[in-house]
Amino acid sequence: MADVSNSFQEGDNFCGYKLLRKKEIPLIKGIFFEFVHEKTGARHIHIKSDDRENVFGVAFKTVPKDSTGVAHILEHTALCGSKKYPVKDPFFSMIKRSLNTFMNAFTASDWTMYPYATQNKKDFYNLMGVYLDAAFFPRLDELSFMQEGHRLSVDEAGELVYQGVVFNEMKGAMSSQNQVMGRSLLNALYPDTTYGFNSGGEPSDIPLLTHDDLVNFHKVHYHPSNAWFFTYGNLDIKEHLEYINKNILEHFEKIDPGTDVPNQPRWTSPKKAEYTYPADGETELEKKSQAAVAWLLSDIRDSFDCLAASLLNQILLGNSAAPLYKALIDSGLGSSLTDVTGFDADNRDTLFAAGLKGINEQDAEKVEKVVLDTLEELYENKIEKELVDTAIHQLEFHRREITNTPMPYGLKMLLSLAGTWFHGGDPLEIIMFDHFLDEIREKAANTDFFESCIKKYFLDNPHRVLMVLKPDPEKGRNEALKDRKQLDEKKKLLSDQDFQHIREMEQKLTERQEKKEDLSCLPTLEISDISKEVKKENPDRISENNRIFYYDRPASGIFYFTSVFGAGNIPKELIEYIPVFTFLVTRTGTRKTNYIDFTRKIDAVTGGFGFSPMARTLIFKDRGTMPAVVFSAKCLGRYQKDMFDCASEIVSDYSFEDDKRIKTLLFQLRAGLEAGIVQKGHILAISLASRNLSGTSYLSELWEGVSQVRLVKNLTDSISDDSHGNRVMDDFKEKMYAIAKFLFCRDNSRICMVGGDSDLSQSDRYLGIFEDSLSKEGGDGFLSLPDFCQNNSDIFEAWTTQSSVSFVGSAFDAPQFGSDDAPLFSVLSRLLKSDFLHREIREKGGAYGGFATYNSEEGIFSCGSYRDPNIKRTIDTFLKGIDFLKNGNFSKEDIKEAVLQTAADLEKPDTPAVSAKKDFFRRLLNISDFEREKFKLGVLNADLENLKNAARKYFKDDCKDKNTAVITGKLVLENEKNKFSGLNFLEQEI
Ligand SMILES: [Zn+2]
Repeated sequence: MADVSNSFQEGDNFCGYKLLRKKEIPLIKGIFFEFVHEKTGARHIHIKSDDRENVFGVAFKTVPKDSTGVAHILEHTALCGSKKYPVKDPFFSMIKRSLNTFMNAFTASDWTMYPYATQNKKDFYNLMGVYLDAAFFPRLDELSFMQEGHRLSVDEAGELVYQGVVFNEMKGAMSSQNQVMGRSLLNALYPDTTYGFNSGGEPSDIPLLTHDDLVNFHKVHYHPSNAWFFTYGNLDIKEHLEYINKNILEHFEKIDPGTDVPNQPRWTSPKKAEYTYPADGETELEKKSQAAVAWLLSDIRDSFDCLAASLLNQILLGNSAAPLYKALIDSGLGSSLTDVTGFDADNRDTLFAAGLKGINEQDAEKVEKVVLDTLEELYENKIEKELVDTAIHQLEFHRREITNTPMPYGLKMLLSLAGTWFHGGDPLEIIMFDHFLDEIREKAANTDFFESCIKKYFLDNPHRVLMVLKPDPEKGRNEALKDRKQLDEKKKLLSDQDFQHIREMEQKLTERQEKKEDLSCLPTLEISDISKEVKKENPDRISENNRIFYYDRPASGIFYFTSVFGAGNIPKELIEYIPVFTFLVTRTGTRKTNYIDFTRKIDAVTGGFGFSPMARTLIFKDRGTMPAVVFSAKCLGRYQKDMFDCASEIVSDYSFEDDKRIKTLLFQLRAGLEAGIVQKGHILAISLASRNLSGTSYLSELWEGVSQVRLVKNLTDSISDDSHGNRVMDDFKEKMYAIAKFLFCRDNSRICMVGGDSDLSQSDRYLGIFEDSLSKEGGDGFLSLPDFCQNNSDIFEAWTTQSSVSFVGSAFDAPQFGSDDAPLFSVLSRLLKSDFLHREIREKGGAYGGFATYNSEEGIFSCGSYRDPNIKRTIDTFLKGIDFLKNGNFSKEDIKEAVLQTAADLEKPDTPAVSAKKDFFRRLLNISDFEREKFKLGVLNADLENLKNAARKYFKDDCKDKNTAVITGKLVLENEKNKFSGLNFLEQEI
């Protein structure tokens, strides 16, 4: 059917919908359509574009009146079976039967959204059917509520405990300092509205929610009159509307959901608020607090004000040289900006916050003074013009750059306009803001526009709070004791019959989880829907010496430059410092320019500029490890020369002379790494467990794992030491210079440039300047190191940090890319995750996630768990999972689904620039299209026999748990220890 949506005119009626507005969006060569469904009041925005990655989303305003997590638990439970699809887990089942590029559900503080994306039309409608039925006609049965929300259960010792996916998820979330900070800020700034509550659920309040509450909340909130529909992409809008009307909207009448969120009443004087976070086992409480000054700004519906505020945010905090950012860091009161820094336009009233973390509690007022004094100063002495231009440049760049990471472009668009749209503002003003931007540009040029904003938003705005978050070393223990006491009292009141009932429900839940269901009611794709080919790319030109690759690609006027430097000849004692080097080198200024001016210049002319470490394996050479450092930069075409000037200056005039700056940066790096531990605990655990299985895994752990956290911790500690700090600093700077000397050599670079024809044709001229700035001495560091740090000893370790949950990782030897068995392992990892670990670790074990991954480049297969209440049980489950694979306990249907998922990963769409860059990296690593196609065919040809055989061939009987690592809390480990008697579990603190 041809797309006839172009013929739609404003005012047209179609399938119960009326087209309110239709506007062209030149930036993406798209068209914006805004409909209302007249009978129910449902709204629908469609953005038509050429993008094949179509997006669907339905969202509801969900406005909780307490902290029981009702909106969040409903988000989960709605996905546990519906009228047309009465199976226990249609959402997870569909992930397996689809080529989706994105499937998820989100609970924000005042809305819940169910979005997905796919490039396949059949898939798009398969998923739409399941999503809509789940949202509007869910079963919400009591067992699902108990599984996803909360339930009482009896543990092995006969004690009562709370269980439930959301309960455990929130317990994990609320043990992380930055989540507590974010929640507390909303509570402090909006005490009289829905934002004062924890929409995710406060672990102590979650058990108060009843099944009836949940069902009633659904009735009012998940109704078309409270729904916002969004579609994006190249599929036909008429078919979308017909489908939604026929399957959903037709069956409803209009109601008043009463979900308007009122404005927070404004204060007449500023306040102060104090909160605590759990810091159990922490002996050192100095410099562990955060302080933020926050203001309530405009109503989110005022798009002009929001745009002005977001530019002002960029001016004040956009980079480390920005005035407020710099003043805060230079004060020396804390280590880095607070977790809630910046302008936030998600809620009915927008907010702005700035402050520091890593401070002493008693310095909170000092932080406030720095913020207020800086703003006062800027108001009095005016903002430099250059800062305004840079802020506008950054906005322009990021709007122009079309990317689908970390999520599909259409979905990013939906999320950007969601708050404004749901609260009754004009979503088109979020997409097309050029007239506002012109107005601001003109006002800023001719008047003190941003100075007047500072006065209005901050200096004259009494709705301000000074928020302090302090560590409480007893909090976790006290909360656990309180829970225990409550549960013990509860236990006393329970009759034998009650206990019987709890056990019966638990039994029912287990039975349902274990029951193999008939999923034939769910739609599915077939293997034949997948193409056998892989997407191929070729450079348009390669330099004679095979070092420079040119890709002529339409990139919306953006030019991408990448230069890879080999690090293979860097001595071992220096190599572990490479991540620190890449972090520092663009931030410490150069011999010619101090860091402030250099940072400003980077932001004025580029949309990204930085170095990162890269550990890869040369599979098709000698399987050796190739350490490297990647420099990437991107800019609007017109700034190409300036970008190359910056790049040339860095590689020739790098400087590590500013001790104070270096120290500040190292502490910032440390704060970032420490905050990341519980956010990516599963990745760190697997990285630790894998590190003796290949040289590259060892290097990756050294660079990105717990080892790097410890290196930076030790470094900052010894640099701060009064007696030998200076010597350590000198020694450290020498290391930085030595690394730069090894890296920045002309013969040691491989270059990739992507851009439109006109940008590419002038790039050679500027590239020449860059190449001339590199040293002529020094050799090629693109070395393959086959024996890099080989160590065969077993790993069985627990690493403790600030956490009330655990992350468990086990790693196993597996075939490498290129082997006929490699594609089978990729399918096996999917089978294990979907058909075993999801059930055993998440549903039964109560962890937020359980998964398996296969790293084909390293030949490593691993299992992991995320925010897990168990340790020993999980390790045992991983081993049972390996047996599950060896025994081939899966059906034809399971295999088909695992193949679909693996193929979906291989088919993930990339923007032209990313696709070109990936081709460049494959060339560096000698990975041919032939090998990629062979791998894909291997995936498509997986069957029971070859999968089982591959598993038996590699998972030997003695593979056991010898490569296992756990990230956990001290308290948690104490409680688990008795389960490890006889096992030698090496325990260390991160
Ligand atoms: Zn959740």
